[in-house]
Amino acid sequence: MRKLTEPLTGVLLYEHKTIIAMTRIYCRDHHSSREREQALCQECREFVEFAGLRLSKCPYGQVKPACQNCPIHCYKKDMKEKARIIMRYGGPRMLLRHPVMAIRHLLHARRANPELPKKKRIRGEKQ
Ligand SMILES: [Zn+2]
Repeated sequence: MRKLTEPLTGVLLYEHKTIIAMTRIYCRDHHSSREREQALCQECREFVEFAGLRLSKCPYGQVKPACQNCPIHCYKKDMKEKARIIMRYGGPRMLLRHPVMAIRHLLHARRANPELPKKKRIRGEKQ
């Protein structure tokens, strides 16, 4: 797997782990890559890699909202569709397999969107 340009930390890392866990559940039940336990098929590996890349470039950074609530649509159309399918399938099943992670994800999704960090304002301070 290709290395990410920036390593994910904190909220972003946790979110990526959640996506990987959901994708594993989805892949296991839908794709035939059962040679190794927890292995993802090529298509799903590409998806989690893409998700990690988007997360590493998220303008919200550590205050990012849950992706389904986010006003920035950073996923390409086909990837977005895949994310929706995987989350719809993997989300409820996470409760059995990774209850703590699933509950944290649900709580995160209910939180209101934060304001986008205003970097320009800091640079152009006048007052
Ligand atoms: Zn798969």
